[in-house]
Amino acid sequence: MGSTTSDYGFLFFRSAEIGLLSLLTAGLAALLVWSLIRYRRLEQQTRGLSHEIGSASRSLRNADRDLRTLFDQSAIAVILLDRSTKAVLYANETAMAAFGVRSEEQLTTEVLQKPDAWGEAPFRLLDFEEYLTKTARAGVQKFEWRQEPPGRKPLWLDCSLSVISYRGGHALMFTGVNITARKCAETADRFRHQAMTSMASDKGLHVALDHLASMAETRLPGSRCGIMVHDVEAARLRWVGGRSLPKSLRERLDGLPVAFGAAGSGTAVFIKGRVVSRDIRTDDRWDRYREEAELTGIRACWSEPVLGSGGELLGTFDVYHNEPWTPGDDDIDALTDPIAMASLAIERHQAKGQLEQMVLSEQMVRRISTDLLTLDAEETDEGIVRTCRGLGEFYRADRVFLCQMEDVSQQVHISHEWSAVGVLPLREASGRKFPMQQTSVVKLFDGKPSLILSAGDDIPPALGFVGELLSLQSKQSLLLAMVYRGDRMCGLLGIQTTAAINPWTPQRVHTSELMANLFGSALSRNELLHSLTYQAVHDQLTGLYNRHKLESFMDQEVARCTRYGSTFSLVIFDLDHFKSINDRFGHNEGDSVLAGVSSLLTDGIRESEIAGRWGGEEFLIILPETTLDCAVPVADRLRGSIESHRFSIPERVTISVGVAAFRPGDSPHEIIQRADAALYSAKESGRNCVKSSF
Ligand code: GH3
Ligand code: MG
Ligand code: MG
Repeated sequence: MGSTTSDYGFLFFRSAEIGLLSLLTAGLAALLVWSLIRYRRLEQQTRGLSHEIGSASRSLRNADRDLRTLFDQSAIAVILLDRSTKAVLYANETAMAAFGVRSEEQLTTEVLQKPDAWGEAPFRLLDFEEYLTKTARAGVQKFEWRQEPPGRKPLWLDCSLSVISYRGGHALMFTGVNITARKCAETADRFRHQAMTSMASDKGLHVALDHLASMAETRLPGSRCGIMVHDVEAARLRWVGGRSLPKSLRERLDGLPVAFGAAGSGTAVFIKGRVVSRDIRTDDRWDRYREEAELTGIRACWSEPVLGSGGELLGTFDVYHNEPWTPGDDDIDALTDPIAMASLAIERHQAKGQLEQMVLSEQMVRRISTDLLTLDAEETDEGIVRTCRGLGEFYRADRVFLCQMEDVSQQVHISHEWSAVGVLPLREASGRKFPMQQTSVVKLFDGKPSLILSAGDDIPPALGFVGELLSLQSKQSLLLAMVYRGDRMCGLLGIQTTAAINPWTPQRVHTSELMANLFGSALSRNELLHSLTYQAVHDQLTGLYNRHKLESFMDQEVARCTRYGSTFSLVIFDLDHFKSINDRFGHNEGDSVLAGVSSLLTDGIRESEIAGRWGGEEFLIILPETTLDCAVPVADRLRGSIESHRFSIPERVTISVGVAAFRPGDSPHEIIQRADAALYSAKESGRNCVKSSF
């Protein structure tokens, strides 16, 4: 029976085992089902997530592409730079075009990292890097930037630098808006303003024209400009404005003649119109100047005439390029303003120059005429030579001379002359007189006040003396202006000059004629002064000194003797019974007796002795350094000569003479009184005798 108990136990355990197993199996099956469901769910979730990730990354890619497309199409230059290495991560088309490259790599190697690619401070690479550093530190930086790569037109950018998040990190973003047109307009305006200011403040024509050339260069990027001014007298063009062309070419073109084939400017003025040399290498008009142009790398030239308000040719505005080039309508428009201003500047300068010249001429004429017309009679010659010098220096002449002609002999001689240093004076070469027919000269001048002889001209026979005096060498010319005294031609003013170009502008000729008139007035005045001075001190009838002059001589003689302790004697004589001569033979005969006596008197005295008419029929002689003893015989000789002379009247003429000598302390009046007293005594003694007073 023991086994029954154990079997029961066995059976009990066996059924419990089976139940547990089934439970486990069911549990496992349930777990499997749950896992499967869970797996499926997870799989679904994963699929969903990966789809999401896929679409997210797709949209990210799209966004990046859109951004790039946006940037690529933007007119704003955009560059992304690595924040630390500064390497270019991205650059849009505009940025690459702005820097003149085709790829981002080129932008890095060819532009951004070349020290000279950026230009002068504050536009150098270094300066740009400084901005980059500041941006990295302080965030956004804004600045205007000019980029002028060699051989390319300058570019102005309005820039902004900022730090942005980029691909999980940070980058520097550079954006630049092209403001070249605005900046060029601003720069051109600045040059225009400077040109106007320099015109207004008379800083010189070249300063204003330099600014205008710069203004044109700004408006015509890539060009170099010059402004030439027309020298009408010389028929040449002078380089006045514009400094950016090489000096050697400027010097070669300076002084271009106005002619076809004289490069752009000379030809433009010659044909009075625009000249465009697209390629100097093949343009005939540049044949003589091509070498210098090529040496300096100039290939194209556009010359535009600068006209004045009256249509006159003032010069040319010239635009040069390093490549073959032709102006388009926009270029022509851009140059209109600078040309108009150049015209204004040149006209203003010329007007000022003419005014200054006129003022100078007027000042010279006024100074010289005042000088000439206020000279004392004895200073006239000196004054005329001084005037010749003034005129010669003013005109930078070789010589200025005055030749005067003598009416009676019809001869001419050089009376006054100034010659420049190194020029042989004519007066020294020849003190001669030359025949000159007044009427033939007047006829030759044909109603004009002056004529000009140039080297190589045949000298007209009427002016034969000119040919004998001087020969005009090459570049020399001689202006001859007639000098009139009243309405009579009395001489010629000659001005000889050496000049490469004709110095005889209408203004100069006019001034010279004016000067010739002044010389005429000075000579007339001189003649008048001489006659007045003569009349003031001489007696009209006898030509001897008059009483007034005798008194002044006496004053001088008394002063001299008082000072030096020397002496002089005084002889005074009176015609005897002259009243009776007048009465019997008439006043005219009386006059001729007086004239005869005065000739005897003049003949009978020495040069150092002074004789004059004291009044009526009384005469006086001053004998310097002569004692009374010596004076008496002189007086008696004179008395004798008159007594023995045969006058026109049938009667002898006699004189009574009084002599006195100077005593220390005498006044002129006292010595005259003593001589008079001696004369009275001679009359008293029966006349025709000499008495002296001690
Ligand atoms: P005496 O011998 O005393 O000097 O006698 P006189 O007749 O010469 O003297 P008186 O003084 O009486 O006369 C001088 C005369 O001289 C009077 C005057 O008419 C005359 N007389 C003076 N000046 C001139 C003149 O210029 N021409 C002429 N013809 N006569 C003159
Ligand atoms: Mg008398
Ligand atoms: Mg008398």
